[in-house]
Amino acid sequence: MESKASPHPPASADVAADIAADIAIVGGGLVGAALAVALARHGIKVAVIDRVDPAAMVDERFDGRASAVALSSQRLLAAIGVWSHVAATASIREIRVSDGPSLFFLHYDHAQLGNEPLGFMAENRVLRRALACALQENAQHVLRLAPAAVTGFSQDADSAVLTLNDGRRLRAQLAIAADGRDSLVRDLAGITVSGWSYPQVGIVGTIGHARPHDHIAHEHFLPAGPFAILPLADERASDGTAVHRSSLVWTERSDAADAYLKLDDAAFLAAIAERVGSFLGPLHLIGPRFSHPLGLQFASRYVEKRLVLAGDAAHGIHPIAGQGVNLGWRDVAALTEILVDAQRLGLDLAHPSGLARYERWRRADNLLMAGVTDILNRLFSNDVGPVRLARDLGLGVVNRLPAMKKLLMRHAMGTVGDLPRLMRGEAL
Ligand SMILES: Cc1cc2nc3c(=O)[nH]c(=O)nc-3n(C[C@H](O)[C@H](O)[C@H](O)COP(=O)(O)OP(=O)(O)OC[C@H]3O[C@@H](n4cnc5c(N)ncnc54)[C@H](O)[C@@H]3O)c2cc1C
Repeated sequence: MESKASPHPPASADVAADIAADIAIVGGGLVGAALAVALARHGIKVAVIDRVDPAAMVDERFDGRASAVALSSQRLLAAIGVWSHVAATASIREIRVSDGPSLFFLHYDHAQLGNEPLGFMAENRVLRRALACALQENAQHVLRLAPAAVTGFSQDADSAVLTLNDGRRLRAQLAIAADGRDSLVRDLAGITVSGWSYPQVGIVGTIGHARPHDHIAHEHFLPAGPFAILPLADERASDGTAVHRSSLVWTERSDAADAYLKLDDAAFLAAIAERVGSFLGPLHLIGPRFSHPLGLQFASRYVEKRLVLAGDAAHGIHPIAGQGVNLGWRDVAALTEILVDAQRLGLDLAHPSGLARYERWRRADNLLMAGVTDILNRLFSNDVGPVRLARDLGLGVVNRLPAMKKLLMRHAMGTVGDLPRLMRGEAL
């Protein structure tokens, strides 16, 4: 589906055949689409290109993940008119962390900080649908090109030029690569990445359970990696009764994951029950299972002439703390603030000082989170006796230090650090 919304004027007569926009965003995923909405709402004309048909993106077979949406990210999504379209979410009121399925070590409770939840859980397809609605609402400033793949990128004196697989060319003051971990645009711009693969796979799916989850997120650290059960909104069965649901993020050793994925439903559920314990009552599977290879990667720089990277194209991290897309949305909020300021001042949107500010603002924060998640994964994904003893002592100590716990909770809520205005609940 290609939805046309804005007849952008050609940049000049000799490039009359080119499509023109103020900003071209490559990738209409959770990050690229949010950025397109945020900029369009502030009067910036954007083109957003994705190789996937928008209708396919909201199908339950496309992405079985659900995202932990930090409180600050929810504020951003509310400020740009997306959150009101998010059909179903469950708030996260408590987080219980344990080393193994039964030993309970660390307990975060939102009530220790006030009334607001620690965050929300929303299925990615629900978020994608909400983003699609918001894009449609801002159609006056959005040109959505999908399915269409970007195959070429170049820069000249006053434009970034993107070539599409159907031969069309797109010109913009600035191109933003939000095309994910395997970003082609990043590679074409000569920006290298460093990082590594984890010997782990993320098995993802949705489970139904007899007892309510009470808005508690559970993370069990098992030798193969973290095993998380995260609260989702209830659904209604055809007879009107509530179906309690949770999202599963099961990190498993890569060499063992395939065998689990191939189990029949009963055996797969038994393997889950063995890890979850019995507190949710009898379990059943809802929808398909998915698996994702896990890795850490970091772009050597975020900025090139007339190009910036955002989201997973700039930084891909382990899902252990549920922070990947939250970092991407921080990129969105920071970029929107910088670009809207530049537009108001009548500056070129690719002005080097603005782009440099973005890189300074976001790179250190993203690097820090990548480092923290890497250390946590290494520390907890093993069964080495002395390491286990040390980490359990550490968790026990943190659990008894209220000030430390509050700080860690604020980190999970995304409310610490140099937050962009849209994440502080302020208008631009
Ligand atoms: C198992 C698992 C669980 C996770 N859980 C959480 C969580 O709870 N909370 C959280 O914050 N994060 C979580 N994450 C991380 C999160 O899913 C990612 O950070 C996020 O999806 C990245 O979004 P993105 O838009 O940057 O990239 P992507 O989702 O990769 O989107 C990139 C888009 O670009 C398009 N594209 C690519 N190349 C081209 C091209 N050449 N031309 C046109 N289009 C192109 C693609 O089609 C795609 O739509 C999890 C990750 C995993 C693996």
